[in-house]
Parts: sequence; structure tokens; C-alpha cells
Amino acid sequence: MKTATIGYPRVGTLRELKFASEKYFEGVLSKAELQDTAVLLRKTHWQMHINNGIDFIPSNDFSFYDNMLDTAVLLNVVPKRYSSLQLDPLEEYFAMARGYQGLNGDVKALVMKKWFNTNYHYIVPEIEDDTEISLVGTKPFDEFLEAKKMGIVSKPVIIGAFTFLKLARFTGNKTAIDFTKDIIVAYSEMLKKFNDLGAEWIQFDEPALIMDLTADDIALLKKIYGEILLAKDSTKLLLQSYFGDLRDCYQEVTTLPFDGIGLDFIEGNHSLELVKHFGFPADKTLFAGVVNGKNIWRNNYSQTLLILNELKKTRATIVLNTSCSLLHVPYTIKNEGFLTDEFKKHFAFAEEKMGELADLKKITASNTPAEITEYIKNTRLFQESRFCTDVSVQAAVSSLTPEDFVRHPAFHKREKIQKAVYNLPLLPTTTIGSFPQTAEVKAKRSVFKNGKITAKHYIKFNKEKIAECVALQEKIGLDVLVHGEFERNDMVEYFGECLNGFLFTQKAWVQSYGTRCVKPPIIWGDISRSQAMTVDYIVYAQSLTKKYMKGMLTGPVTILNWSFPREDISLQECALQIALAIRQEVLELEANGIKIIQIDEAALREKLPLRKSDWHCEYLDWAITAFRLVHSGVKAETQIHTHMCYSEFSDIIKDIDEMDADVITFEASRSDLVIIDVLNRCGFKTAVGPGVYDIHSPRIPGTEEIKEAILKMLKKIPREKLWVNPDCGLKTRGNAETIPSLQNLVDAAQEVRRSL
Ligand code: GLN
Ligand code: ZN
Repeated sequence: MKTATIGYPRVGTLRELKFASEKYFEGVLSKAELQDTAVLLRKTHWQMHINNGIDFIPSNDFSFYDNMLDTAVLLNVVPKRYSSLQLDPLEEYFAMARGYQGLNGDVKALVMKKWFNTNYHYIVPEIEDDTEISLVGTKPFDEFLEAKKMGIVSKPVIIGAFTFLKLARFTGNKTAIDFTKDIIVAYSEMLKKFNDLGAEWIQFDEPALIMDLTADDIALLKKIYGEILLAKDSTKLLLQSYFGDLRDCYQEVTTLPFDGIGLDFIEGNHSLELVKHFGFPADKTLFAGVVNGKNIWRNNYSQTLLILNELKKTRATIVLNTSCSLLHVPYTIKNEGFLTDEFKKHFAFAEEKMGELADLKKITASNTPAEITEYIKNTRLFQESRFCTDVSVQAAVSSLTPEDFVRHPAFHKREKIQKAVYNLPLLPTTTIGSFPQTAEVKAKRSVFKNGKITAKHYIKFNKEKIAECVALQEKIGLDVLVHGEFERNDMVEYFGECLNGFLFTQKAWVQSYGTRCVKPPIIWGDISRSQAMTVDYIVYAQSLTKKYMKGMLTGPVTILNWSFPREDISLQECALQIALAIRQEVLELEANGIKIIQIDEAALREKLPLRKSDWHCEYLDWAITAFRLVHSGVKAETQIHTHMCYSEFSDIIKDIDEMDADVITFEASRSDLVIIDVLNRCGFKTAVGPGVYDIHSPRIPGTEEIKEAILKMLKKIPREKLWVNPDCGLKTRGNAETIPSLQNLVDAAQEVRRSL
């Protein structure tokens, strides 16, 4: 069996592309120097593939910012507001990616969106009514030739026409169907051109095919490929799917004359069943996604062989492949100096995954796979204990009963009790938790982490910051205060570091968008809490004020969704373990006199399945339950808040109400408050604080503007249920804009309050 990867990370093992791009943006690096960095990275990545004997080496998986944006530029999909700036091509590209403010004009960036169920974000192409889709770019051809110079006949990777049209935004009256003719011509030309350049294979990525498809979608798919495939000459065409299975279009796809079809056997729960049930054409190549492109655990070879043995029955040619692009995992475990081999041997990052493909190639070539050294080593690895089990944690999870997920008394009774106890004014004002993390705060944390100052010194510093923050909030006149989160670098990492069961990496960066990378912790074992994590700071903060101080925690679903999860237990089990640990913290805060506790679920939507029919059974049923477990043990008068970082939850609004929090704050200011109607229509019971201003921008909102937002909300939301707050934490902002913004917020709330 041959081997392939779908795509490779591009930011560089030491984030070279990030730093080079940022320097270029600052004007410190020239365009030629930036291009040199890119050339070097591509070369290194190709060489890596050669070293691992990969047969199908991708090209055009590189990008200066995003592959969807690359495809838009390739196809002449450049909105007029950017083309009219008359910038050079690279500048225009970055103008679309990041916005542009300069001599030639002032435009915002294109919208960015989550790439399927990953934490990568793509740029949403905008198609205007007079956009003329045509093949105008040369990037894929240039990179193909660049690889060819190294002696590699690469497999160019292009986002497919169907996915491109499905993800693009149509700004006028036209829709996808109006552009199919042109896009077919463009992709057909692309095929011809690659044919002339001597490409053996070309890969069209069509992840959109794993979504719920309508009859119209399927008709569109058939139309597009029915015609593009007519242009095929000797270059073979691979239709690559990932992030799920093709259950809505398997038969259509396998009937079309593609030369190869890429299926995902990791996230595609139905992939194997589809192949078994409908068969797979023996004259096509099956690119079998058996090495996980998203998680970092080693592949279990004996299990993979079981899948491959099934696939062999189709008599199709099989290529060993990753389940999706390796973009979603870090580069290499080799860079991790802190982790010992005992841990490291369980992980495979991008480079090690190529090694796994090579191992599998060797193993499958043998008549006696069980005798191959790599196979034996792998089997042993999965047989040995990882020493990650905590029987008491497992027992606690398995002894949970339905009652543990129900908070008493019911919402409406609590609401009355709390109204009486708290005596908060109408439209209470608050913030989401963090206050600006100034250079001083970050520097202190860094010297503490490097062992240059003692814990005592560090704690004292944080307490000083808390005291300043409390005084500031009192001066501004906020009603419910926060401690400011100065001790936290990140809302997940902080808790991960306090809990048992997590591992941390040093250089395991994964691209989130553009030049931004994240470094998710790894969930290694059963999770437990051996000591209080926030109680000291919160109790201290409360001691400084007569106003209510909110305890501030991160919820189990968010902690799980922003980490690399285990594969040996279910996500549900893991979420419940975290929930039990956070629950202990909630109860300890309560026991120490903290009356209001916020449990953030910023990333609740992150792992929502891509198909609606899976939403509940595969995710929401346990995710919402895990959250309920965290707070079901508190007294009636303890007020539980939660916070979510997005505004699109109209489709899961009932589930969010079912979380049974007392108050929820969320982002809304950028989405024109549309969510307010949804809340109104569904009779949302939880009190709400839709953000009245956008903290993602340095702009200071005026009092009038905030008043207007509050008045607009009051038209749809009962006044007893409305809170007034910004739309997210303030940690990325500076004090210069934060203080006047919050003052305007409080003034606006007070003015509206007086008028009621
Ligand atoms: N409490 C966190 C903060 O204020 C919430 C962050 C978030 O929603 N991403 O920073
Ligand atoms: Zn948020």
C-alpha cells in the first residue's frame, strides 16, 4: 500500500511563518524575505515527506494566511472594495485577510469562520453579483513547479468547487447555482493545466460533502463533477473528504468517474459501514484516512489493520492516508523537552504520524504483520498501563444518578428567592471576568513561571492587582464585581495546571487562524482536584467590598473542547470527570461565602457535530448534563452565571436554557442583537446579559449608543431578566479604553434604570 498525507502544517516548527509575517506587517521584513521564509518552509515540509517515504506528497497546502482565501484569489473572487485599493497582489491578499488602513484606503477584513469542527478559522470568500469566477491565479501551479525542481511530482491540493461554493457568502441576489458554469470552467482549466505540467494526481478537498445534504446539494455536486470530470486527461482526480462520512452522497460519489476517493475512517462513523454495504469500485483508489489528523495519540496498529482488512475485500487499490490535513496537530514531539519518554512514546504529532504511515506501509506489505518489529512495539504500547487511572474518580462518575444533574428548587422558585436575597437594582451591571492583562501582569507571571520570584511574591502581586481592580469597579459603580483574573494566562490552561490529569507541552502549537496559534493541553488521565484553585483569590476579593464578588470558573465542556482529549475513554466520561472537579470548587466557593459564581462555557459550541441529527445523541445530551452536574449541588440562593463567547445559538437555544443557570451573558453586539428576538420567541427562562458593546475592538462605545442597545433589548426581554455587561472578558484590551467604556456602560444602565 502506498502512503499519502492530505496536507501539512505550514506555520513552521518554531512558528517561523508567524514571526516572519508579523515582521512583514510591521514593515521590518521585506516581501522578498517573507517569500524566502515561505520557500524554506515548503522545502522543509516536502523533505520531511521524502524522509518518511510518503508516496503522495501534497503541494499548495501552504498558505500565507488561509487556503479558502487562496482559492478565492485563484478564482478571481476579490470583492471590489479590496481590488479598488490598487495594492500589489500580496498586499491585497493581506488586506482581505486582516483589513487595510493606509494611503490607499480603509477597509475591514473579510469575515472569518470556524473551519468545520476544528479550532482553525477560515476566511469567508464573498461572491458579489458581478463577480466573474475564472482561473486567474497561479499559486498551485507555481508550488507544483517548485516541488518539481526538488524532484517531487507532488499532488496539488485544492479546495473543491462544491465546498468553495457552499462556504462562500453571496452578497447580492445570485446564489451558488448562478456561478456553477463559471466555476466548472475554472476547475476544468485547472485540471488541463496540471495535466500539461505533468501532475499525476490532483486532490480536490470536499469536506462540505460530509454535512447534511439536501437534494439540491446533491444535484449541484453531480452537475459540478459530472462536467469537471469531462476535462480529465491523464492527471488522475482524487475527491478527498474529511471530518466525517459521506452518508448522504456515497453512491453518487462512487458512481462518478473519480480515480480516487478519500474517506475518513476516524471521524467518519459510517465510513466502514458504507463501504461494506454499498461496496467500493475495484477500479478506483481508496485513500483510507486511518491515521488521525486531529488528535495526538499514537495509532493503534492492530485496530487499523482490522479496518484495512475490511477495505481490502473491495479489491480496490488502497492508499494509507491521514484522516484530514495534519494542519490540526502540532509539528513534532521531538521539540518537547519537559515531557519524558514515558509520556512521549504515546504521542504522534504531524512528523510522527508520517512515521506511522511508513510503519503501516511496511506492516501491510508483510504476510506476517504480527512479526514486524514496529507492529510488536505498537501492540506492547497499547497493552501496557499508562498509569493514568484514578479508581476513585471512575467510581465517582459511575455512581452518579439522574438526581445529581438536577438543581433544586426549580428555576422559578430560585428566581424569587434570589430576587429577595440580593436586592440588586434593575438592569444590574457586571463584567465577564478578566480585566486588562497589562505588560506588567504578563511580565510578573513570566518571571514567576521561570522561577525568578517566589510564589509568595507572585501571590502578593496578584492581590495588589485584585485590590486595584475592585477599587476601580467600585469607583465606576458596577453592581456585581469580579477579581480580574490576573493570575490566569488562559481560562483553560489555568485550570488544567491546577487539576490532576493534564499534561502541558512547550512547542506544540496549532494554527488557529492567520498568524495565531494555540497550545492546547493534553488530557492524559482521570481528572481530579486535589486543592482549591480559585478560592483564596476570590475570598480575598470579596473581603475588599460590600458588593457581590463573582467567583470565576471555567466549565467542563470548555476545558475539554480546548484540550487534546483522551481516546481510551469517551468525551462524555471525561467531561463528567472535569465536571465533578469543578463542582467541588463551586461548593468550596459557596462554603466560603461566595454568593454568585460564574462558570464559563465559552466553547460550548465548539464540538457540536456537523450533522444536525447527531447534535443531541452525540453531544448536547452529555455536554449540557455535564454543566448541570457542576452546579446542581448549590443552595437555592446561590446565583449561578455562565458565559458564552458567541451569539449564534438560536438553533440550540432550548439546550442552553436547559443548562439551568440563573444568568447567562454572551456576545451579541456584533450580530446586531438578532438573538434578542430568538430569546423572546422561545420564552427563555434564564436571565440574560447580551453584551452591549464589542470588546474585540479598541473603540469606546458612547453612553447614548449603549442606552440604545439596552432600550432595544428591553423591548424583547422582561426588565427583571436583563443584565448589562460587555460581550466578553477584557483581558486583551488596555485600561485606556476599558475604563471609559465601562463608565459609559454604567452611566447608560443607570439612566435607563431611572427612566423605567
Ligand atoms: N471569564 C473569561 C474572561 O473574562 C471568559 C473568557 C471568554 O469568554 N473567552 O476572560
Ligand atoms: Zn467570551
